[in-house]
Amino acid sequence: MLPILIVGAGPVGLVLALALIRRGIAVEVVEMLPELSTEARASTFHPRTLEMLAEWDVLAPLQKAGFLVHRLQYWERATRQKVAQFDYRLIANDTPYPYRLQCPQSTLTRILKPIIEASPLAKVHMAHKLVNFVDDGDGVTATVETADGLRQLRGRILCGADGSRSDVRKTLGIGFQGKTYEDRFLLAATNIDFAPIMPDFGPVAYVFDPQEWVIVLHNPGVTRIVFRLREAEDELAVQAECAIRERIDHFLAQKADYRVNGTWIYKVHQRVADQFYKGNVVLLGDAAHINNPMGGMGMNSGIHDAYDLAGHIDRVMHHGASLPHALADYERVRRAFAMNDVQLTTDKNYHDMSATETDYRQRRNYEFATAAADPRLAREFLLRAAMLEERIKDEG
Ligand SMILES: Cc1cc2nc3c(=O)[nH]c(=O)nc-3n(C[C@H](O)[C@H](O)[C@H](O)COP(=O)(O)OP(=O)(O)OC[C@H]3O[C@@H](n4cnc5c(N)ncnc54)[C@H](O)[C@@H]3O)c2cc1C
Repeated sequence: MLPILIVGAGPVGLVLALALIRRGIAVEVVEMLPELSTEARASTFHPRTLEMLAEWDVLAPLQKAGFLVHRLQYWERATRQKVAQFDYRLIANDTPYPYRLQCPQSTLTRILKPIIEASPLAKVHMAHKLVNFVDDGDGVTATVETADGLRQLRGRILCGADGSRSDVRKTLGIGFQGKTYEDRFLLAATNIDFAPIMPDFGPVAYVFDPQEWVIVLHNPGVTRIVFRLREAEDELAVQAECAIRERIDHFLAQKADYRVNGTWIYKVHQRVADQFYKGNVVLLGDAAHINNPMGGMGMNSGIHDAYDLAGHIDRVMHHGASLPHALADYERVRRAFAMNDVQLTTDKNYHDMSATETDYRQRRNYEFATAAADPRLAREFLLRAAMLEERIKDEG
């Protein structure tokens, strides 16, 4: 039987590979980079994702490497007041994992790759760049560029988990509509200990501000601080050590002792592919949808795509289901989730962070505080943030 070809060894491609081999399905993964990416991107794993990782037996090493967060905070920068705090213990009856796990996505990919490579059902080809593919109806022949020249690989289905600039999506001619935000995100990796500076500040805090909102995310051994970067700000100038320190000290309202271990700038988009499949070729993860990182839903929803897609491929490969029907089902559910849930939630999260209108800001603070103070509303809020709503709805 032909294997499933997966393009991209990011978190989503590798999770799909693992989910398929766990179901006894052979896979070949091609990744253009010689080594797994180390870029500072996702660091939040939500409870629904932790449930999936547990099903695939890879949660324990990730938990060991990560940092458990039991409360989620929202602050107002101007007043330095906490607006709301949500305690994950309120969803302890809804999930075995009532917390966020903070850990870089590059830790997950480094846990997954050796497990996948150890399986007789899997091959992972690094430094293999997909350059073209032909779908003949019975399968897909992919052409990949390697240091030794071009190579061809053949699979039953080709899965594009090749990120936001997806060559798979472009080759299929599928549109990727949406918008790009004017603001960029400036991420600084530091070793700041907030405890002596702001003792009430939790390990994950979203700080509202109409001029310069801030997100603080503790990860093992590193405190990430994300700032809004406005249109006029120069990327080189803002990343100079003295400029970063000035920005951080201004946020802390004092000069503190810390190291800045790295900075990154990101442009941020909201886009969803017009179609999630064509013939025997299917898109998932950032190749299919991208969103701003407010709320940490990009990688998480990509992992949920992989979970869903692996179930459909299993029904095709082992239970005689029709591939077009399976992929149409996959697209119906996952595209609707990307459009109606992730895009709307992350866009609202973004607006909440940066809103300038006084009425809106007052209403936002009132609504957050009211929800946090009412256990029923707080549970609903947390189920949404934990990306558990869908599963709970499906279970009736
Ligand atoms: C600052 C920041 C913070 C974020 N925080 C969060 C968060 O906390 N939680 C969250 O859920 N999401 C977050 N995200 C989003 C998250 O990083 C992405 O959604 C996630 O990386 C998508 O994974 P992926 O595997 O689909 O794509 P990618 O991680 O982009 O992986 C794609 C892979 O495909 C490879 N590739 C590309 N083209 C080819 C080709 N032609 N041939 C072979 N290989 C190819 C690439 O080299 C890459 O390794 C954040 C993003 C940013 C920028």
